[in-house]
Amino acid sequence: MIPFNKPHLTGKETHYIYEAVQSLHLSGNGMFTKKSHAFFQEKYDFKKCLLTSSCTDALEMASILINIEPGDEVIMPSYTFVSTANAFVLRGAKIVFADSLPGHPNMDTSKLEALITDKTKAIVPVHYAGMACEMDEIMALAKKYNLYVVEDAAQAVDSFYKGKPLGSIGHLATFSFHETKNIISGEGGMLVVNDEKLFKRSEIIWEKGTNRSAFFRGEVNKYGWVDVGSSYLPSEVVAAFLYAQLENLEDIQSRRKGIWNTYYEGLSGLEEKGFLKLPKLPNGATNNAHMFYVVCESFEKRSELISHLKDKEIMSVFHYLSLHKSPYYEAKHDGRTLEMSDYYEDHLLRLPLFYDLTEEEQSKVINEINAFFEN
Ligand SMILES: *Cc1c(COP(=O)(O)O)cnc(C)c1O
Repeated sequence: MIPFNKPHLTGKETHYIYEAVQSLHLSGNGMFTKKSHAFFQEKYDFKKCLLTSSCTDALEMASILINIEPGDEVIMPSYTFVSTANAFVLRGAKIVFADSLPGHPNMDTSKLEALITDKTKAIVPVHYAGMACEMDEIMALAKKYNLYVVEDAAQAVDSFYKGKPLGSIGHLATFSFHETKNIISGEGGMLVVNDEKLFKRSEIIWEKGTNRSAFFRGEVNKYGWVDVGSSYLPSEVVAAFLYAQLENLEDIQSRRKGIWNTYYEGLSGLEEKGFLKLPKLPNGATNNAHMFYVVCESFEKRSELISHLKDKEIMSVFHYLSLHKSPYYEAKHDGRTLEMSDYYEDHLLRLPLFYDLTEEEQSKVINEINAFFEN
């Protein structure tokens, strides 16, 4: 079976874990955590980075940090992972779901202003497939209505919008290092804080509501409970794994982009014949090769394609059941239909894309998809 995903090991992961163990600093915020923070801050101009145990945790931190309270409204796409919404729901927010663009799963910014009310506190753009949302428009709206922008950049490591790294634009941004992402640590994530006014409190929330970080820097002579918070730091074992991946980021990205381009070329004949649609880069966006997807002409065609590929021992997966129609949120949703979100729910299919996918395996996937439509 050609799996949908296979975690890639760059070679030094266990070596760095061994170093972390030998150093006897196993809890969080040690050498590998600091090296990882520095890597991101230097390479992508992120103002302040805090590793977390997951992107879900980073989103929860963001929600606490911008003081989400019961009744506040948060705007985000319906076509996203549950954590994008759950993190804000946990603090009592009402989620106002936005529809996707006709040509891309990212949210349609032309329809955002109509969703803003005097209760709106934040917009959470999700850079789907690592491809940028229209951040100029989103930041302009945020400025006009005094809103926070939290980029859900879970899929968007090493991707850009008009030359700016994704994660460096919003007040806050969150990344994932789950084993299905480009850069991994098993489970893992990061909160990026770009708004200086949020720096101090972000560390406190990260360290269980204490000013422990300031204490270790010698800024205060005792540490204690100063705010709400939780345990969001990953252990040094996880950070050590992550750092080995970061050292190989260029190699990982170039390999993934090669695979992505091979899919695009191998399937473009089918698009020309109108059998399916291939991913289109939104204006100003780059492709970080997080994901390769095709958009089928109908739900039935997609189901047939999935079973055809399964018969040929190839795993393909669809995802994101529109959150506004989910069992948990349907009754809380304001009733608007979100046509494009539902369209991607029913038509989009993801193909195997991972570093160690061989040329042979990829040719097989491309040939089988072509054979399915040509026959
Ligand atoms: C993967 C993902 C998450 C969750 O990341 P975890 O690290 O698994 O918590 C959140 N949002 C989006 C868009 C994702 O793709």
